[in-house]
Amino acid sequence: MTETKSIDPDKNNCAIMSDESKGIYSWTQSKTVIKDSLTVRTAFKTGAGNKIRFLDSNNLQIRVPPDPAAGNYKDPKGYDYFFHFDLENKGDKLHELNIELLRPTTKSDINTWFSTQAPLFCSDDGKDWYLLSNVKATKGHRDYKFPLTILPGQKIHIANSIPINPSYVKEHLISISSLNPSICSYHEIGTSVLGEPLPLLQINSNSAKKKDRFLIWAGIHASEPDTLATFWLIDWLLSDDEYARKVLEKFSFDVVPMINPDGFILGTSGCNSYGVNIFWDFRKEDNLKSPESTALWKWAQENPPQVVLDIHAYIYQVHKPARYYIETVLSHGSKLRKVAWSAQQAVLRQLNGQALVNDCKNSFSTYLKKDYDTLTFPGYHLRFLDGPTACKQLIIETIKSIYLATTNHKPLYSLANNNSRKSYNSISWRLFEILNDRAPRQIRKRLFPPSFDQRKIDDLEEWKRYIYLSENPLPVATVSSGKIF
Ligand SMILES: [Zn+2]
Repeated sequence: MTETKSIDPDKNNCAIMSDESKGIYSWTQSKTVIKDSLTVRTAFKTGAGNKIRFLDSNNLQIRVPPDPAAGNYKDPKGYDYFFHFDLENKGDKLHELNIELLRPTTKSDINTWFSTQAPLFCSDDGKDWYLLSNVKATKGHRDYKFPLTILPGQKIHIANSIPINPSYVKEHLISISSLNPSICSYHEIGTSVLGEPLPLLQINSNSAKKKDRFLIWAGIHASEPDTLATFWLIDWLLSDDEYARKVLEKFSFDVVPMINPDGFILGTSGCNSYGVNIFWDFRKEDNLKSPESTALWKWAQENPPQVVLDIHAYIYQVHKPARYYIETVLSHGSKLRKVAWSAQQAVLRQLNGQALVNDCKNSFSTYLKKDYDTLTFPGYHLRFLDGPTACKQLIIETIKSIYLATTNHKPLYSLANNNSRKSYNSISWRLFEILNDRAPRQIRKRLFPPSFDQRKIDDLEEWKRYIYLSENPLPVATVSSGKIF
């Protein structure tokens, strides 16, 4: 545990919103406060939380710093901080607490609390995580509060995402590759700003056969526990499932479960420790401020992928559906457009047609398309509130549908080309795309606007959380051997 000097968040708000020219963020404050046999700690290798204060024996307040991405980019894209703390009752009597998690600038006397579906998680051991109930939030999920009873001897971890220790990712992938040495191999593609390794698992059931290469990456935004989805996919690919075997006949896989370990450590949900958002601001050559994306780009140059899936997860953005960021088939070479269209539509069917048209010019997928004509599925968001079973099924079905849509075509590596995207069939493809996707998408959006907005959910007096655990208290996620510190 590293004890660092505490910043007074009320006074030094600007310091933690500093721009990247000032260097790396170091505001994960390791802090321990003891009151009446209760110990509260925020000293973990996962998540933020830096000012602990007992107002009295029953009221605990923790301040959490804002995400630096919110200060570094014009549009912070809705990132929230990722906090994590634990409470331990070392006494022999029960404690009943009201806990508030506040932003540095929030005044202490808030009176506008709403019931919310945004999930907070708790765990006794850091391994199995459950939903907390009776959580209230202020508008936009800036602040949270909830009651908590802690029994004598009990210890409980609380977080607004599933804390996944970067060192667990490494251990987990090494253990998988040693259990499956004939088809798996463990690689480290580089290191983060803080010196954390960037693990990659290669899965190839037959290395003698030339296959299309499928690159999957997650763990970009630390408050989105999409790293779990890569674990689910790896388990499935290595299972006896008939489809998994077929998929492995067509593709070899490179899986990066956590490209932004520093974000998980510092709680900087939207960015790395220099404040760089690796998704919206992918830097191919910036080994100082963005060694994570630079390492991924180098790997891709040495092992060009034919397909890429970039996984994210909505967690507190409960009003957003599972969806992905669709891109025009015109961004592909002419030979690849037909199969790109089929694959796109197949993935959209899994997502009930939900997609945003991607406008990001600096993303990994844009660069891959330009240089390698890669089939890309960027910004693929699971909706975590749908529950782990539904999320797991969706991500597996998505891989299956990409397989089905591409398997009857020539291998993708033989169709890809780096030539000019302007070709004889561009106009007809453009028209085809407008008529069959963009226009119907616009019409649907006008006729059937999203059925609920976040404020309406938050205003519900009655607790209407999507309870997938209420009657059967299974964990939302099991992530590690408890090594989250
Ligand atoms: Zn994200």
